[in-house]
Order: sequence, then C-alpha cells, then structure tokens
Amino acid sequence: MGKLSPMMQQYKEIKEAHKDYILFYRLGDFYEMFFDDALTASRELELTLTGRDCGLEERAPMCGVPHHACDVYVKKLVEKGYKVAICEQVESPYEAKGVVKREVIRITTPGTIVEGSMLPEGENNYIASVYYDITGFGICFADISTGEVLFTESRDESVERGIINELSKFTPAELLVNEKFFDCKEAGEFLKQKLNCVVDPVDSEEYEASACVKTILSHFKKTSLSDLGLEDQEFAVYAVGSLLNYLRQTQKEGINRITGISSYNEEQFLSIDFTARRNLELTETIRTQEKRGTLLWVLDKTKTAMGKRLLRKYLEQPLANIPQITRRQAAVAELFEKSIDRIELAEALSGVYDLQRLMTKVVYGTVNPREMQALSYTASHLPQVKELTRTFSSALLRDLDVQLDTLSDIRQLIDSAIVEDPPVSLKDGGVIKKGYNGDLDELQDIHANAKGYLADIEQREKDITGIKNLRISYNRVFGYFIEVTKSNLNLVPDRYIRKQTLVNCERYITEELKELESKVLYATDKMVALETELYNEIRQIVSDKLPVIERTAAAVAQLDVLQSFAQVAADHNYVCPQLSVNGEIQIIEGRHPVVEAISSDGAFIPNDVFLDRDKNKIAIITGPNMAGKSTYMRQVALIVIMAQMGSFVPAKAATISLVDKVFTRVGASDDLTAGQSTFMVEMSEVAHILQNATPNSLVILDEIGRGTSTFDGMSIAEAVVEYIVREKNLGCKTLFATHYHELTELENEYEGVVNYNIAVKKRGDDIIFLRKIVRGGADDSYGIEVAKLAGVPGKVIKRAKTILSELEMSVGKPDLTYHIGAEDDQISFEDQQNEKALGRLKKLDADSLTPREALEALYELKAIL
Ligand code: ADP
Repeated sequence: MGKLSPMMQQYKEIKEAHKDYILFYRLGDFYEMFFDDALTASRELELTLTGRDCGLEERAPMCGVPHHACDVYVKKLVEKGYKVAICEQVESPYEAKGVVKREVIRITTPGTIVEGSMLPEGENNYIASVYYDITGFGICFADISTGEVLFTESRDESVERGIINELSKFTPAELLVNEKFFDCKEAGEFLKQKLNCVVDPVDSEEYEASACVKTILSHFKKTSLSDLGLEDQEFAVYAVGSLLNYLRQTQKEGINRITGISSYNEEQFLSIDFTARRNLELTETIRTQEKRGTLLWVLDKTKTAMGKRLLRKYLEQPLANIPQITRRQAAVAELFEKSIDRIELAEALSGVYDLQRLMTKVVYGTVNPREMQALSYTASHLPQVKELTRTFSSALLRDLDVQLDTLSDIRQLIDSAIVEDPPVSLKDGGVIKKGYNGDLDELQDIHANAKGYLADIEQREKDITGIKNLRISYNRVFGYFIEVTKSNLNLVPDRYIRKQTLVNCERYITEELKELESKVLYATDKMVALETELYNEIRQIVSDKLPVIERTAAAVAQLDVLQSFAQVAADHNYVCPQLSVNGEIQIIEGRHPVVEAISSDGAFIPNDVFLDRDKNKIAIITGPNMAGKSTYMRQVALIVIMAQMGSFVPAKAATISLVDKVFTRVGASDDLTAGQSTFMVEMSEVAHILQNATPNSLVILDEIGRGTSTFDGMSIAEAVVEYIVREKNLGCKTLFATHYHELTELENEYEGVVNYNIAVKKRGDDIIFLRKIVRGGADDSYGIEVAKLAGVPGKVIKRAKTILSELEMSVGKPDLTYHIGAEDDQISFEDQQNEKALGRLKKLDADSLTPREALEALYELKAIL
C-alpha cells in the first residue's frame, strides 16, 4: 500500500472491509469504481473503462457513473445478482483536512432494495433465511422495503418439499442458508432453475443459539421469545437470528424499519404446492411468466401498490378457517351491495401512495422533499376514505375503520413546512416554506433580495461614474464583479480593484461588492444548512409516527383488496360461495375465471360439479383432446382457491367444503429438469400427492401415465384411482382426466368413482365441441377428427383412418385410446403382442397344469413375444 496515493489508500481500506460488494466510491459528482470492480462494472453496465493515477506505476482501471443517476446502475447490477456498497463523502470537501472522509452508507443486495424506483410496485421483495436440518426447517422472510417479517418452522417429514413450497410462495430475491442446506439436492436444483435468487451461505458460528436469541430480543425490545411467538422453535430462531444479523450488517440504521414479526404455519392456510401454483397459473402464466392470463390478473382491480401486494399475498395464502373467510366475504358483500360507496372508495384510494415504502425511506433518512409531499398528498385523501368506512357495518370493515387514521397531523406539519412544488434535492434550499421558521425567513430574504441589492448597486455605480453600460455579474472564481468595456476605462474610479482583463473589457471588484457577496453566500450556506436541519426534524417527527402510519397502511391495503374483490364480482357476475365442512363441493354453473375473461365473445359454457366424501369422490373425465377437460378441472380448483381467499366466485351458486391442500398433476411440456425425464417428474409428483393428500384435499390429475407405454401407463393410472378410493386415510376429492377408457369401468367396481365426459357432437367427419360435462364415459376419442381440426394435412388424416381400421380388424376393436389418445401413446406392435401374451397367460390355470404343459405354455408365450 506504501506507494498508493492517500485517496487510493482510503479506497483500498474501505474496499477491504466490503470485499463481496462492488464499491461505488463518491468522487465529486460521480461514483467511481476501481480495479476489479471497474472491470466488472464496465462489462456489466457497458461503461467506458478508463484509468486513474493511483500512485503506483500502472494506472488503476476506473469507470464511473453520475451520482444523480446511480440508482439505475445499482439496479442493473443488483438484477444481475451483484451486491453494491455506496460509499459517500461524509464531510464537506471545503472543511476536509487532507482526504475527504468517506463511509459506506448503504448496501444494496437483491433482497435488500429499498428504493421504490428499483422495485415492482405491486410485489414484495423478500430476503429469506432458511435453517435446514434433517428433522425439519425454520424459515424467515423479510421485505425491508415494507418492514414486513414472517417466519415459520416445520418438523414435517418431507423437509425439502416443505422448503420448496415456502420458497415458491414468497419467491425471495436473496436467500441466506446454513451449510447443511447444501445437502438438499432437490431444493438446490429448485433454487437454481426456478427461483433465480442469490444464495448467501452463512457460517455455522452464526447459528449459536444464545447469540441468536439475544439478537432477536434486543432488536424487538422483548424479554422473552414467547412475546414473539418464537418459543420452542429452535430452527425458526436460527432463521430469524441469522437474517437480522445480516440486515444489521448491511442496512445499518435501516434495520429500525423492522418493527414487528409474525409467525404463520401451514394449517392456517390452504396449502398449494409449487406445482399446483404453477399449473393453475395463479400469479404468472406457465409459458410466458406474465401476469396477464393469470388469476391474479383477473382479480386485480386494486388502486394502491399496498393493495396489490396484499392481494398477491391472499392468493399465495388462501385461508383455511371459516370464520376468517366469512369475515372477508361479509365485507366484500357489503361493498358489492353499496356500489356507489365502493366506486367512491376506489377513487379515494387512487390518491393513496405507497405509504409502506415511503415510510421505509423516511426511516432510512433517504426520503426526498417530493416524496415527503407525496405523504401529505396521501393523507389528504384519507379523510374521504374514513368518511366512507365510517358508514360500513360488516365486522371487518368496522375494524378497518378503527385502524385507519387520517394522518391529519402529518399532513398539517408537511403542508405548513414544505413548499408546494419542492425541488427533489435539499442541496440548493427552497424546500421549506416561508413563515415556518423566523431565522430561515431572514436568510431566505437575504438570498432572495441579493438580486435587488445588486441592481441597486449597479444603478448607483452607473450614476456616479457615468458609465452607461456598466454591468454587475457573477462567476465562481471572482464572485460578484463589475464589468466595464474598453471604451469607458477612463471613467473607472480608483476604488475599483482590477481583477481580470478580457479582450473587450475589464473586470473589477469593490469593497462593497465583496461585503455583499460574503453576506449573500453566507446566508445561502446557512439557509441550506438550516433547511436541512428543519427538514430532518420534520422527517424525524414523521418517522416517530411509524406505528400509526403502518396501521393505516395495513388498513388501506385491506380496504383496497376488498373493494377489488367486490368490483371484480360486480364486473364478472360472481356469487358469494357458501362454506361448509361437510366434505361437499357443489358448484352450479361454474366458469373458469381466466378463460372467461380472456374470451372475447363471452361465450364461456358453464358447468356443474359435485364432489363429496363417499359416492362422488373421484370423477373420471373422458373426452377428446380440446374438449375442455383441463379447463373444467382447473376451474374447480380456482373456484375453491377464490372462495378460500374470501372472494366471490364465477358460478351461479357454490357450496364449498373447506379444502386443506390443492394438488395438481397436469402434463406440462417443460417438465424436463436436469437429468429427469418427464415420466420421472410425473411419477414423483404422483408419489408426492399420494403421500401428502388428506380426505380434505382436492387433487387434479390430468392424463397421468402418458409418459410411458400404454399398458404401464394405464396400470399406473388405474392403481392410483384404486388407491385413492380404497385407502382409508386418503379419499381425497379427485378430478381425473384420462384417455384410458378402461378407467371408466372402475365406476362399476368402486363406490365413489363416477364417470363424466365432455360432450361432443359428431357431424359427418367433423366434431363440434359442446363444452358441456355430462355423466358417463366418452364413447370415442375422436383423435383423428381433432387432428383434422388442428389442420393436419388431409393425406395424413386419410392414412390414419386406414391404419385405424386395419388395427381394429386385426386385434378386434381395441380401445381407441391406444391409438389416438395423447401424442406419445401410439401403440406399437410390441404392445399388441404383449397384450396377446398377457391374455393367454391370464387364461392359464397354473394349479391344473402338468409340468410338461407348463413348459409348452412357456414356449408358446415366448413365441408370441
Ligand atoms: P382438453 O383438456 O380437453 O384438451 P382444454 O381444457 O385445454 O381441453 O380446452 C380446450 C379449449 O377449449 C381451450 O382453448 C379453452 O379455452 C376452450 N374451452 C374449454 N372449456 C370451455 C368452456 N366451458 N367454454 C368455452 N370454451 C372452453
């Protein structure tokens, strides 16, 4: 380090303490990066790489970004998974002796972004911490941009699945993990492929129990873990403790934004595992990962960012408790009925900014004057919101009314202190209103009147000297000066002190000008300093109001979601579902909320469903491709999810017995995960469902078994259905779409299995989809007709028909599904022979065979195969 220049030495010291971060080092109006950081940043941000003398022989690689635009660059780096440390000058360069003092004031990592402009407004940005153990796990999620912290602990058998499910619910941007977590192959794979989040391993020393407890208790200012719901939850304590430690290191003061913590557990909510969440396209579509075309898209008529985030949460965690659901339903019903109030409420809410994220900036001290004014603007809409909530009578709306404060004191304070259209920054003053502070008024007067004083002096000097075109101007080097053109130099009095000679003129200063200048400059400096001081005082007052603002923000978010539910219900003609625990799901004229909303002609054909605990446990649904089987099954799951969120549902009437878990196994083309075949993924999903479903679960199976040979697939499908109806502890309500028509025979064998098909009408060579679900199995698969509809060339269609009739003749009429079901179900010659051999084998009576006959039978079988 010896030869490094003093500034570079300072740089190196700071960088040493922030090795894992790209260091943005403030130098005048730029943030500069040096050495390796410069190489990385210039590559990732497409910045020009230059160099800077650093005292060493070679120049240090350097690149930089303007300080006012730094957020954009930080955002880009963070999105690419880097972590950035912002190092500021913490003393004025004018006052500094030697190198200006600098400190890292902010660290931004993917999970710790607080700048609203860097975050999608309707989504939370979580950082999570997982503590994994073979016997269970603890997990904690924090969104520091809103101050929310959640945790849970599980001692369930399938630990990895549990972790995956939690992570898929909250999709954190950054994840802290203990070392043991790296033993989790499945979860590791999931993180890599599906989550795209940065993983930070945490040293094992950080999981020292007593240190974690101490960190937690001191942060939340509590004396016992039970005050936080963390008692007897060792793994959760590790997760929360390690997360708080990380945040303390990276966020400094900002960690104060985290004021509360809440626990949740699986049983509180309808569990929707990762696969179901994806297959049902709750928040993003499978193929394009877009919001349009999802359930969230249909349900979102929220007006505030806070409402948007909460709606997403409701969807991530529908309820599993009737009183809580009916509480929401009653509020939605009231807003549904009172349509005028609802529309007014929505209008008032439109003026409410993101209080949660604004407050984060207030607490972090980064709130700018315009954002402060946004707080007051928000507060100006709250009285109208309150006026409306006051008139509501349902229990939840009453509670929200109580929680909602109009924040009039904050509004008064900000309005009395901050000018109407304030600058973004405090650095030039002009933020604080006249009349707010006497001392400031005086300084502002001098600042503002400087122009008047100068005009006076200019006029006086013109009069005294007789120089008509004499001018007073200002530059940074000389301050104020008098300018006299060459032709008038003979009129210049002695008291003018010459400062500069230009081609056409001379520049002078006078004692009087100097005096005025120091007075004005001094006043301006003082004005800015005093404005900053007053502004910080105001910020502190607002910051101290955090609890009441948070409560209000939470109430606003809930009101917004409830009005959104009511608005969607009104727009799309939804009804309030009845809830029960009797095991029955009955939907009359149900519709698929998304398909219905997307279809432009509005011609969605409604269908009924009835499932219960005994005679109608499993619906086997047959029908050609494109008939609407998947749509129908998904619609049932979506209606259940909507009902448990507290929303109305797309149906004429619905009675829903509470569901504990929703599972889906829907054939998807993009299942190929590293090293696993589609079939393998499919079977592990089926295994997971059979192991975890309960009698209160809803299971959707779409064509399981199609990934292998027909016989294999059919046998598995049949065995799964049998297992579900026969296994005492299972009996989950199941919708099973299949091309294996054999399965329809199960209706006669087992109570609880009921056949349905989606009706089609054949007209000549064509089929017409009626989209109506009816009792009974389908009589045909109509594969060739569907292929024709899809535009498969006529020649192929013709040939397929010939092959089909040949096949039908050679083996008797086989079940049509063998040939024309799913695309990968084509029957092979081998399959036919296998079937023959199997038939022969079945007919043999092993007990009555002589050894010789048995041998002959074996040879015969071998010959067939
Ligand atoms: P399957 O699973 O039987 O192959 P899908 O459920 O994928 O069929 O439906 C095929 C198409 O039919 C989809 O594009 C869907 O939009 C439309 N569809 C399905 N059900 C209905 C319905 N009840 N009313 C109107 N259109 C429907």
